[in-house]
Amino acid sequence: MSNPSAVLPTADGSVQTTCAYCGVGCGIRISGDQLEGDASHPANLGALCIKGSTLLDTMAYPHRLLYPRLNGKHVGWDGALDEIASRFSQIIAESGPEAIGFYVSGQLMTEDYYVANKLMKGYIGAANIDTNSRLCMSSAVMAHVRAFGEDVVPACYADLELCNLLVLVGANTAWTHPVVFRRIQQARARNPQMKLVVIDPRKTMTAEQADLHLPLQPGSDVWLFHGLCRYLLQSGAVDRAYVDAHVDGFPELAALLDDPEYDESAIARRCGLSEVDLRAFFRWFAAEPKTVTLFCQGVNQSNQGTDKANSIINAHLLTGRVGKPGASPFSMTGQPNAMGGREVGGLATQLTAHMGFNDTDCQRVQDFWQSPTIARQPGLKAVDLFEAVRQKKIRALWVIATNPAISLPDSARVREALANCEFLIVSEMTARTDTAQFAHLLLPAAGWGERGGTVTNSERCISRQRPFTQAPGEARPDWWALAEVGKRMGFAEGFNYDGLNDILREFAALTAHENQGARQLDLGAIAQLDDAQLDSWQPTRWPLVAQDEAHITGARRVLGTERLFAEGRFSTPNGKARLIAAAPLLPVLDADPVDSERAGWLLNTGRVRDQWHTMTRTGHLVRLMENEPYPKVSVNHHTLLASGLELGQLVWLGSKRDQVLARLERDDGLADNEAFMPMHWSDSFTARGGVNRLVAPVVDPVSGQPQFKQTRVQVQPFIAQWHGVWIGQHEPNLQGLGRDPGWWSRRPVDGGECRLLADADCSAEQLWQGLAVQGHWIRLPLKGQGWLAVALNQGRIGGILLCGASPRQVNVGLLAGLLAVPLAAASLATTVEQALAGDSRMVCSCFRVSERQIVEAIEQQGIHERAGLQALLKCGTNCGTCVVELDKLVAKHRPQ
Ligand code: SF4
Repeated sequence: MSNPSAVLPTADGSVQTTCAYCGVGCGIRISGDQLEGDASHPANLGALCIKGSTLLDTMAYPHRLLYPRLNGKHVGWDGALDEIASRFSQIIAESGPEAIGFYVSGQLMTEDYYVANKLMKGYIGAANIDTNSRLCMSSAVMAHVRAFGEDVVPACYADLELCNLLVLVGANTAWTHPVVFRRIQQARARNPQMKLVVIDPRKTMTAEQADLHLPLQPGSDVWLFHGLCRYLLQSGAVDRAYVDAHVDGFPELAALLDDPEYDESAIARRCGLSEVDLRAFFRWFAAEPKTVTLFCQGVNQSNQGTDKANSIINAHLLTGRVGKPGASPFSMTGQPNAMGGREVGGLATQLTAHMGFNDTDCQRVQDFWQSPTIARQPGLKAVDLFEAVRQKKIRALWVIATNPAISLPDSARVREALANCEFLIVSEMTARTDTAQFAHLLLPAAGWGERGGTVTNSERCISRQRPFTQAPGEARPDWWALAEVGKRMGFAEGFNYDGLNDILREFAALTAHENQGARQLDLGAIAQLDDAQLDSWQPTRWPLVAQDEAHITGARRVLGTERLFAEGRFSTPNGKARLIAAAPLLPVLDADPVDSERAGWLLNTGRVRDQWHTMTRTGHLVRLMENEPYPKVSVNHHTLLASGLELGQLVWLGSKRDQVLARLERDDGLADNEAFMPMHWSDSFTARGGVNRLVAPVVDPVSGQPQFKQTRVQVQPFIAQWHGVWIGQHEPNLQGLGRDPGWWSRRPVDGGECRLLADADCSAEQLWQGLAVQGHWIRLPLKGQGWLAVALNQGRIGGILLCGASPRQVNVGLLAGLLAVPLAAASLATTVEQALAGDSRMVCSCFRVSERQIVEAIEQQGIHERAGLQALLKCGTNCGTCVVELDKLVAKHRPQ
């Protein structure tokens, strides 16, 4: 069996590829063991954020899955693939095609996605394939389909630089799409007239930089944008000629908004905003033709996400600002190939190539595929898909490159579904994900740098990811495993691909098949390219119709089509866009009754700066964990005081669904009684982590996207008898305790790992008894409180445990420097004393500059401006994500 990912570096050792993490889709160039931003890529023009910059370092994945494992035993690929094919065939014969499910990911290449979708919808014959893009993008998808007739982003990144008013809604762009935000910062520096409005309940790092921040009531977006549209109507800012010629639904929207409920004063009250600020936003929007509104998960992840997105698009349609230079709505995607998945039909609600489940499209696709069957109706969306697994209606589930045990709402129920599944296949790079624990069959997947394929970023730009190293062990690309299963199920003619380019050409031909301009997604030109041309593909935006071949191969090569719909012709049957007149809804709050002594908090969830998803690809890198090293829940100063709890205290957060543990932190960017908790932590990194345990499976009725942003929770202290910090070459051996401690959280450190520990049920002495029976330990009292225990391995320090009655801020990096050092040579006492002087959060991850270093530099060097800091410490000079924090520290600590 040949290894289909065996593509090694080019002769000069330089490989062009793209980043594995987010929808910006930055270009990367690999030269030997060096990685740098690709200056020729239109998305990033050479810039990278910390996640992209450290991609090579992340490739040493711990616990890499190297060969297929069936029920824990090593099987060859032949055995694994035969098992899948025969189990699928048997289940289809007994229970029908709907009893098979696929749950895939925006991490897949377009080719992987295409083969998975074709196998499910064209050969198995049902549509129960959904993707984790359902959780982040599907409301935007449905809003595009409703407004434009097709899931099309009309704008490109250059529009974020060309506009004079940029409105960011539900998007912490500075942290989640850092390179795009850097382009925005640079554009603002060039154009001082450019205004930035940020609409977000939290004062995020992005909002800190806004000319105007509107901290709206969570979930009130539709009210806000309906109010804006009423203002546009009343102030004469509507482009009536454009609306008359190109837009349907005006009378219905105008009738809905002909109601004083949508007056500025009423909207300001509804949204909890200052009327002055609200009017300023409305005035700016009405007056500025060059306006872009960028929206993201804060809009999409809602019980009314589709309506929210449509209410934003309404404002752009009323003013004729769609697909024009510096004027458009713009939905950003979360994952590197969320857009590619939407193109091939990775969502259960799309057939493929932007076609739906009507008879004409189904027949067209079946004819093109020459497949034995075709799905005739949409399949189950993610939340319903897992519920069907739980109820055993879906008997076999194939999960590829995603971690639903953590990422879906009501995680306990999802885990029950995974545990109940008759035959669960998980394709992954590591066997240590929360989802992989449930798998009957684990398939080793080739990862970034080991496999190739195409990805489409947020601005419709198709780029090539290229391999530059051999996949380890028996790891294989996902498209290959899917195609092999197709062949073994008796569909060889449909899956006999001779490599990636075959698949891409077929998909491209399908997009052009009987298209004739009906669908903007037309990649006909790609279908005509040979292997050499595809192998040397350069980033290009679609559409790429066959007549445009010269654009992608010849001297006239351009970066594809920058904007769509500029001339006002849309993909609807009559060519007109549609306004959507939706009645605003309140969020659905699924809470316990509010405790009489402790008021409930409204919990928002989201991402932190340096982490990716459930940390399966970023959590093992020391540098990426230094900024946010443990799971935390944040509230503002007032809420903290009112709670009677203490900063740094461990707390239980509980909803009707479940409970999680986190450390309590302060973030004054939050409103009173609102809380924020990152979504990254899983049971692989902490005890009782995974904030989605708390989130109810409430979904948008149109898109099926879950409402992750508003959950009513209650808080209780976790009363620990002791708190510990372990820094060791391995995880601590606590077998003497007979169980795990009540709480733990792990992170990597140089030479080992750090664990924070706490327990409510045993004393520190019982912990010591548990430790003392194993190995060689010495114990010393600590100044103030508690004790220090050192585990020795042949005279060298194997681990250090600090234990006391309250949590400590410890500089774990200093203690990690003692690992493997002979005890006799270690300056143990001095190092421990320095470490106990306190830890300092990493502010600049690129150059590893901590808050303490920054404050000391400001105070000792008399620094008054960020530039002085940057010259001295280099902080904030690479990706620029931390510059707002630098500004705040300079303002706070500079000499008067
Ligand atoms: S902005 Fe996104 S695509 Fe670019 S380097 Fe960072 S994570 Fe990667």
